[in-house]
This record gives sequence, structure tokens and C-alpha cells, in this order.
Amino acid sequence: MSEDFPTAESAAADRRTAELRERLSAVRQRISAATAAAGRSEEPQLIVVSKFHPAADVARLAALGVTDVGENRDQEAAAKSAELAGLPVRWHFIGQLQSNKAKSVVKYAFSVQSIDRPQLAEALAKAVARQQSESGRPDLDCYIQVSLEDDGGAHRGGAAPSDVERLAESIATAAGLRLAGVMAVAPLGAPPEEAFEKLANISRDLRGLHPDAVGVSAGMSQDLEAAVQFGATHLRIGSDILGSRPRVG
Ligand SMILES: *Cc1c(COP(=O)(O)O)cnc(C)c1O
Repeated sequence: MSEDFPTAESAAADRRTAELRERLSAVRQRISAATAAAGRSEEPQLIVVSKFHPAADVARLAALGVTDVGENRDQEAAAKSAELAGLPVRWHFIGQLQSNKAKSVVKYAFSVQSIDRPQLAEALAKAVARQQSESGRPDLDCYIQVSLEDDGGAHRGGAAPSDVERLAESIATAAGLRLAGVMAVAPLGAPPEEAFEKLANISRDLRGLHPDAVGVSAGMSQDLEAAVQFGATHLRIGSDILGSRPRVG
């Protein structure tokens, strides 16, 4: 086969790259516009959420300048990060996490953004310590996921706001963990502005006790503008860049 003629496969891959380039550029423009509208000088960090999409898409995104990707299931993230070992991207774990998966997650994760209980922090600390002695990985960036539901409920995960201080203490005092900040998902069916304002206040209180914990991971495809308005430092954008995900049962 000649090098000059694309195979059906590589032609399709090129189409996908072109599509991703366009969608990524549209999202980057929205982020720039929102940053300017908020009177902020620095844009938040974009994390492209690649869950349910193939490793090849992450490779395409990296070629388009994406440096940070997010995944919400360990099995999928472990496989993709192994397949793409050596690709210069940071992997952020953003899904509910069982403590027994900590050992696996610290092999590839730059951050875990979904810490919602002290036992998980303890499991991560233990796993990081082991991984650091084996391979010298850096400290793990840790975000406390906060529930912004009115009832403090667990529909979309996260610790109750009243538990943040105690959880922060358990992360901040653990070797190998770096308390990076807070993360949240806006509740369904309510204005995201309200939720992100609440998160901004929780972040302010946290910074009063832990001045370095400046991270605010908020904002998804539907509500990134509101998140930028209320001080998000990290945005987690999936479907507006990669397209819709298959529904899982
Ligand atoms: C899937 C997911 C996202 C991305 O959501 P989109 O609406 O596809 O942009 C962000 N954060 C978390 C925690 C997610 O699970």
C-alpha cells in the first residue's frame, strides 16, 4: 500500500481530528469569552473529559494541544492511560471511587477530584506512599468533592459542606497528598449560578484554613460560563468537545 493514499481508516481518523479541532476551538472561545466577561485575567484550566471515548481520541486531543484529561471509572482510565503511556497529558480522576481502587488510581492519576470521605483519603495516602517508594511519583493533587444539593444529598456525589473542614484536615496532614481545592457538580434542575456561588464561598472558607488550596473544579459543557463567572480554576468538559456518550444502563 502506498504511503500517499490514506486508508479508509486513516481518512476517518483525520475527519475525527478535524471535528475535534473544531469543537475544541469552539469551547476554547466560550472559555475566553466567559473569562473576559468575568473580568478575570487568567483562563481556567481545561480538563477534557474523555470517558466512554477511545484512547485514540485522547491522542488526537493531545496533538491538538490538550494537556489535561478526566476520567470517571478506574478500569477505563487505567486501560487508556496504559495504552497512551508517554503521551504528555495529566489524568484527573473525577468519578466516585471505592477505596479498594486507590492502588490502581495512583498509578496514573495526577489528581483525584472526587474525595468525599476520610477513608478514601487514607486509602489514597497509603497507595501514594507505596507508589512513591516504587516509582517516585509526585504527590497526588486532591480535591474535596462537595455536594451542592439542598438536602446535602448524594444524588451527584460529594461530601456535605459541613464535612469539608474535617476532610481537608485529613488530606492536608497526610504525607503524599496535596490539598488542591474543591470540586462540585451543579445540581440538576436549579440555576448553576446559585450552586457555583455556594461553592465559591466554601472555597473561600477552605482557603482561610489552607491558603494553598486554591483550586475550584466546576463547570461542565452546559454550565461552564456560570462556573467561570464564580471563579472556577478548572473546567471539566466532555460532550461539547467529544460528542455525546453512549448511554449505559
Ligand atoms: C462526565 C462528567 C463531566 C463532563 O460532563 P459534560 O456534560 O459531558 O461536559 C464533568 N464532571 C464530571 C464529574 C463528570 O462525570
